[in-house]
Amino acid sequence: MSSEEILKEVAAEVSICTKCDLSKGRTKAVPGEGNPHARVMFIGEGPGFHEDRQGRPFVGPAGQFLEELLASINLKRADVFITNVVKCRPPGNRDPLPAEINACNDYLDRQIAAINPQVIVTLGRFSMAKFFGGEKISAIHGRARKIDGRMCIAMYHPAAGLHQQSLKDTIRADFKKIPLVVAEAERLAGNGQMEAEPPKTKEEPPEQLALF
Ligand code: URA
Ligand code: SF4
Repeated sequence: MSSEEILKEVAAEVSICTKCDLSKGRTKAVPGEGNPHARVMFIGEGPGFHEDRQGRPFVGPAGQFLEELLASINLKRADVFITNVVKCRPPGNRDPLPAEINACNDYLDRQIAAINPQVIVTLGRFSMAKFFGGEKISAIHGRARKIDGRMCIAMYHPAAGLHQQSLKDTIRADFKKIPLVVAEAERLAGNGQMEAEPPKTKEEPPEQLALF
């Protein structure tokens, strides 16, 4: 199956999914959207009020900021793929529970496998935990690491920047690094250095690129 077909299949399953209780409160599930061959994939937390109404990711105030951030590096929504760790809105925008994230994880993994992006940008704590378990955003934001054959970068959630100017500036500065990370991923891929490696042990943390 092509990337497009796999993404359509995932979206169709998500739209009627009842694997966790978030299905009970949703208006529309939000599978995610964008370029099936995106080089950069953004993973947020979960749908909010506006996303739940429209069935599309990042369409509220945090989404407006995300679009501004994308524009700052000459990207549009249609160039990238945008999704979340949970595809249905947690009631009252509460944090998604571990069981909900687990129940939804297979959809996200299938999307990542279909798109095969060179760069994954995590937005907020919950997507960060999937790739950078146990680390602190204040310590690792904006730094690229090679994980499972691609570059991953953790960023603060755009919503966190909406009410705090200093964080807004930090997020803007971190976003500006994305083109460099894409270029570095391409360079490593060209050298055959981006293949997935066996899982690292605790004593051997994933390689952090000194560059960034
Ligand atoms: N916040 C998220 O994490 N995801 C969305 O889709 C919207 C807001
Ligand atoms: Fe299914 Fe994910 Fe929605 Fe839970 S959040 S019902 S696992 S699509």
